[in-house]
Amino acid sequence: MNVETPEIKQNWLNTFVLFSTPVLALIFVPYYGINYGFTGFDWFCFIFFMFATGTGITAGYHRLWSHKAYTASFPVRLWLAYWGGCATQNSILKWSADHRRHHKFVDDNEKDPYSAKMGFWYSHMGWVIKDYQGPEADLSNINDLKKDPIIILQDKLYLPLVLFSNIVVPIFLGWAYNKYTGNTGSIYGVLVLAGLLRFVLNHHFTFLINSACHIFGSQPYSSKDTSRDNFFLALFTYGEGYHNYHHTFQADYRNGIRWYHYDPTKWMIKTLSLFGLTTNLKEIPEKQILKATTLQTISKKKEDLYKRLDLIKEKNLYQKVESSYNELTQSLNEWIEESQKYFRFCKDDSKSSEEKQSYAKKLEELKAAFEQKKAQLMELLSAPSVDALQAV
Ligand SMILES: [Zn+2]
Ligand SMILES: [Zn+2]
Repeated sequence: MNVETPEIKQNWLNTFVLFSTPVLALIFVPYYGINYGFTGFDWFCFIFFMFATGTGITAGYHRLWSHKAYTASFPVRLWLAYWGGCATQNSILKWSADHRRHHKFVDDNEKDPYSAKMGFWYSHMGWVIKDYQGPEADLSNINDLKKDPIIILQDKLYLPLVLFSNIVVPIFLGWAYNKYTGNTGSIYGVLVLAGLLRFVLNHHFTFLINSACHIFGSQPYSSKDTSRDNFFLALFTYGEGYHNYHHTFQADYRNGIRWYHYDPTKWMIKTLSLFGLTTNLKEIPEKQILKATTLQTISKKKEDLYKRLDLIKEKNLYQKVESSYNELTQSLNEWIEESQKYFRFCKDDSKSSEEKQSYAKKLEELKAAFEQKKAQLMELLSAPSVDALQAV
């Protein structure tokens, strides 16, 4: 797609909102702070609104509705639909349709709505301020979501919801706080912090996932697309910074998979599950993750070796490395497949404990075979010269 073609119209509403709100925040936050001062309640509302709108997008729009990584009870869906709407990033239906296309056609400048290959600006917010996709949103990939009345209602009432949650509710909270505490100051502190400043920050924190998380960071799981893992970005995106993992395993309700990975969205979904409010939390089996990281590490080393020793000219050695790599992949696949079968085998009450023990032993052998093949291949890949490679 040529982004400069004249038929692509400017989306003036989005342009106005996305450019005026940062300017208003830059004026009103210091003005109000200096002239009236913010109360502890204003700051509390700011933090609460940041978290509620942020996770409305990450736990709701993203992991629940776009990816179906878990299921949520009625009150949780209602909560996420309300706060996700307050974030003002379109309705669940339109957001999820775009996001599913982003995953399906990632980095395809024609079909990925916010392709990172179009550059930082386009993937950050350039795609929002112009009607690149034409006037009609393509909702053909979210038919499953149309069955939920909450989602349909949120789509129909989107604009009133945006105005009510961003303006009416903050003003009401400021007014109620004054009335309750006898405070006679201005009632607009909550509106300036939890309404305006949060509105701007929340937008750009989400935009960072589409832009920065496709440019800066590591690729421990796959290099098939531009997605990156970035701990620093996870801090601003409620845990969505582990974007390379997410693009590799989009069905997982977690983005940061280790306990120490900063992923408050994951912790929220997990905590709700302890009360039965969320269910069917999908986790990718550990061995599938190990397979991805192993093959990714080895593929990178392989590429490095080919460049370093110019192996394309050395056909025999090239084949030696490739066949060793194929053997490793086969051995890893076999171990993983048998592990899955073993899991089902152990649940079968008709199997004796001896049979289960012998299956477990077979698995241990498959694991040992995989590790041995991996060690052999690593030795090949670390060879400092063609002669050394020949000798391995
Ligand atoms: Zn996603
Ligand atoms: Zn992405």
